[in-house]
Amino acid sequence: MSVMSETATLTEPAPVNAGHDAAIVVDGVNVTYGIGSAEPVRALADIEMTIEDGAFVSLVGPSGCGKSTLLKVVGDLMAPTKGRLTIGGEPPAVLRKKGRIGFVFQQANLMPWLKAADNVRLQRDLVRGKGLKDDRPAPDVAGLLDLVGLKGFETKYPHQLSGGMQQRVALARALALDPAVLLMDEPFAALDEITRDRMAFELLRVWSHYRKTVLFVTHSLAEAVLLSDRVVLMSARPGRIHKVFDIDLPRPRDHETRLSDRFGELVSEINRELYRVME
Ligand code: ADP
Ligand code: MG
Repeated sequence: MSVMSETATLTEPAPVNAGHDAAIVVDGVNVTYGIGSAEPVRALADIEMTIEDGAFVSLVGPSGCGKSTLLKVVGDLMAPTKGRLTIGGEPPAVLRKKGRIGFVFQQANLMPWLKAADNVRLQRDLVRGKGLKDDRPAPDVAGLLDLVGLKGFETKYPHQLSGGMQQRVALARALALDPAVLLMDEPFAALDEITRDRMAFELLRVWSHYRKTVLFVTHSLAEAVLLSDRVVLMSARPGRIHKVFDIDLPRPRDHETRLSDRFGELVSEINRELYRVME
């Protein structure tokens, strides 16, 4: 069952969220943890970054360089110590309060007692339940599950789904928010390599359909190159942007992309720089 579903083909529902502007502008952002404690940790230093609307940008860098912290600041899960950032010209809090920021983490964190479709609906229901303004049409839950390759699994419970399928539900749940931006923190890191590979290609398909602005954290340079318009390499202690790589591989990208000389060059180039920042 799980093998079949992992290879399910994706269908193409109508695009949503067209015409939004969700450029992310990060302007001099600093984050220091434990200010006033004996050992404050300077996690981010003077981060300057612009991600244009609809772009796919990956963050890579050594463990502890502040990738997750930067994602949390963009998603308004925490405030920067210094500096500011906007999404579509507004503070991220505005979008978060409208339920327009989609997160996908390493763990799917599904509600075990809810069916897949109800898990997908849940966050939108929460937005409404909190009395927040939500005048958008109800999400097309069946269409989203279809899009992520889970047609026919609407009534399954999380324990009946493989790890890869649970991450698909998590992606559909984030898309059900009709997010202006999609923030993904090592979303495939807990999956086996074959599933992970397949998920990367499926994410490409979903993204090329929705064209959300995506900020994606990964420790796989090959995954970052395959998916992204740009790869941002960070250095640690304190986390800074070391170098930005433009990924000039043509789209749509597929298995052949990874076999191309240019793909290999880009991965090697980033790898070389990564070792330099770790010295
Ligand atoms: P990454 O995701 O790149 O591995 P993080 O953003 O998780 O890095 O962490 C950056 C730095 O900040 C690390 O040195 C980490 O130990 C520290 N850090 C992260 N969260 C906290 C916290 N809540 N309190 C104190 N230090 C933290
Ligand atoms: Mg992290």
